[in-house]
Amino acid sequence: MFFEKIVAAPADPILGLTEEFKNDPRTDKINLGVGIYKTNEGVTPILKCVKKAEEIILKEETTKSYLPIVGTPEYGKLVRELVFGADSEVIASDRARTTQAPGGTGALRVGADFLKQQNVTGKIWISDPTWANHFQVFGKAGLETAKYRYYDKNTRALDFEGMKADLKNAKAGDAVLLHACCHNPSGMDPNAAQWEELAKLVAELKLLPFFDFAYQGFGNGIEEDAFGIRTFLKYNKEVLVASSFSKNFGLYNERIGALTVVSADKETADRVFSQVKIAVRANISNPPAHGAKIVTTVLSNPELRAEWVAEVAEMRDRIKNMRELFVSKLNSLGCAVDFSFINTQYGMFSFSGLSPEQVATLKKDYGIYMVGNGRISVAGITTSNIDALCKAIYEVLQ
Ligand code: PLP
Repeated sequence: MFFEKIVAAPADPILGLTEEFKNDPRTDKINLGVGIYKTNEGVTPILKCVKKAEEIILKEETTKSYLPIVGTPEYGKLVRELVFGADSEVIASDRARTTQAPGGTGALRVGADFLKQQNVTGKIWISDPTWANHFQVFGKAGLETAKYRYYDKNTRALDFEGMKADLKNAKAGDAVLLHACCHNPSGMDPNAAQWEELAKLVAELKLLPFFDFAYQGFGNGIEEDAFGIRTFLKYNKEVLVASSFSKNFGLYNERIGALTVVSADKETADRVFSQVKIAVRANISNPPAHGAKIVTTVLSNPELRAEWVAEVAEMRDRIKNMRELFVSKLNSLGCAVDFSFINTQYGMFSFSGLSPEQVATLKKDYGIYMVGNGRISVAGITTSNIDALCKAIYEVLQ
């Protein structure tokens, strides 16, 4: 027997929670676990610009033939413009190359494979805490992983001094994974001065920056959220960026993302890209078309693009409003904890500061689901469930 020795893997900490939620018979249950945007009506909509793009695609599509290994050049160009800005030096000097990838996860994995297969680096430093899948993605690709401090539980803020101190322990040649905006799970991002300082430090330490850009548009705005990456490029010639369009286009199940690699010059970029292609080819041969066609159609059509920008703003604003309402309701209930720190966080998530025991009680006694570390998906809060949610948190904190 070959398989008898296989030991069952534990449930995925986040997707496992969704399963538990589905099986909970309570009708007033609330899911603040998985990072999926929901409207105030509690649904995950298809964006209007996406539906319109799909109608165009359906009419105009003439073949289902394979795409190039790295996706179409048009898609790559649009992604780079979104990440770096259309008039950026990186684009003008033609030293960035983009491959389509199956979601942000696929982009991280292709990047990890490239780094490992080409001996670019053996180790990557990852924030503590981080998105649970990061260690698995980089670890399974064969890279050694290490943690740097990021969040201070006591001050409920970015542990910038701890972060810098830990990065100084990295060796020249190591890579460092950075959340470009809307850090998952803490919601805490460096401010402009801190990005500048980090960018210089990483260059001085000769570390390779690898950005995970899963929430462009969910922080301060589509352009604004690229600030960290663009600041890094002032001091660092070589950078990797894993983009995801799962959240900002609502294309979760289309699995659409991109890996962009910036090299020091055009010639190096071409050599690097030939190896990135091998990594894609070995993983998926060539990418699926539908999600990429949607993103390409929306971004290259001025009307649809404007509609997309407005729809991203609508999602961002709703989350921000819920964040503010959540804080003001909790504080007006007279909670033992001042929750104002939640208003300093960005993106879909919030670190509530609730303990694993309090999280367990919320699930057991109130049917309120959140990740064990106290992470709340703010996008799951609605004007209909916020009162019950705040009351339950108030009671659990007594
Ligand atoms: N990176 C971070 C920080 C995320 O939060 C997520 C999704 O939750 C991803 C990457 C993966 O995105 P995708 O669904 O596009 O693979």
